[in-house]
Parts: sequence; C-alpha cells; structure tokens
Amino acid sequence: MIELNKLNYNYDALEPYIDATTMTIHHDKHHQGYVDNYNKVINKYPELQDKTVEEVLTNINTLTIDPADKQAIINQGGGVANHNLFWQIMDPTNQTDTVLLEEIKKTFDTLEDFKQKFTEVATKHFGSGWIWLIRNQNNVLEIYALPNQDSPLSLGHQPLLTLDVWEHAYYLKYQNKRVDYINNWWPLLKQIQE
Ligand code: MN
Repeated sequence: MIELNKLNYNYDALEPYIDATTMTIHHDKHHQGYVDNYNKVINKYPELQDKTVEEVLTNINTLTIDPADKQAIINQGGGVANHNLFWQIMDPTNQTDTVLLEEIKKTFDTLEDFKQKFTEVATKHFGSGWIWLIRNQNNVLEIYALPNQDSPLSLGHQPLLTLDVWEHAYYLKYQNKRVDYINNWWPLLKQIQE
C-alpha cells in the first residue's frame, strides 16, 4: 500500500499561474484516485507492496503478471509517480539548480531555446499525456512527450522536469488555451531560473 504524498506548499501557493481550485481538485481527487487504484492492483501482488511506485515502474518490463494488471500499474502507478514529480518541481522554495541549468544550456544552446523546444512539443502533443525533460542511458538530456500516464522510468530514463498536459491540469483556468498554461508554467520552475 502506498499513500498520497502531501503537498509541501499550500493549494494557493502557485497563484496566479495555477489556481487554488485546480490544485485542490488535481491533488486531492485526481492524484488520490491514482493512488487508490494503484493500491487495488498491487493488493494482488504481495511482492510489489513494499516497493515504491518508482521502483515498480522502473522494473515494469521484468514483471510476469496478468497483462491487464500490468497495464493498470502503468496507468495508475504512472499517475502516482508523475504527479509526485510535478508537485515537487513546482515547489516555490526550490532554489536555482546551477548544474542542471548549465547542462540545459549546453544541450539546447540557451535556456530560451530549451523553453521554446519544450513548449513546441507540449503544444503539438495530441490528447492527454506529459511532456518530459529526461536524462537518457547515455547521460544526454532529451525532450519528448509520452501519452497517458506512461513514465520515462519504464524506458530506463531519469525524469528531470515534467509538465502535465491532461486537460484536468489546466481546464478550469485556461480552458482550451494550452499554450497560455504552458507559458504561465515556466515562472514556477525556480530550479531553472537565472
Ligand atoms: Mn494530472
């Protein structure tokens, strides 16, 4: 059994970029729902119950379990882990991560170029999913989109930054204007501020 991670900040801490109502529903209902549904599946598998969701997703391809349960773990466990990281990277007390910042600049030329590329991937992604900055097996940073709640952990990648582009993440405040949501998300990432 796992529990929903508490937010390290108040629901209104990300105003005006992400409103308190969206944060409350997103964390207490959507994220809680993934936790509850994940627990229902792993209830059947004692060997998975003392592992973190992140560990289970990292080793998902080695699991020999019912394919429907495996897919449920990908969907629900991904929903748990992806939101865990999402809340963490938007923590208003985060400090600039100069190592990450320099690496981003080295890989994508400038911070603005990185944001532009990430924004383009996020704008073009069709349907639900997450946009990722990851470190691959060759220690190289990459930007890509994954559908649904799929996790880079299951591809052997280390997730660094991520943006939730499911409509539940922005619809109340931004409606269909995903690009406004994306542009208003950057100020929340204190770790890559110069
Ligand atoms: Mn979400």
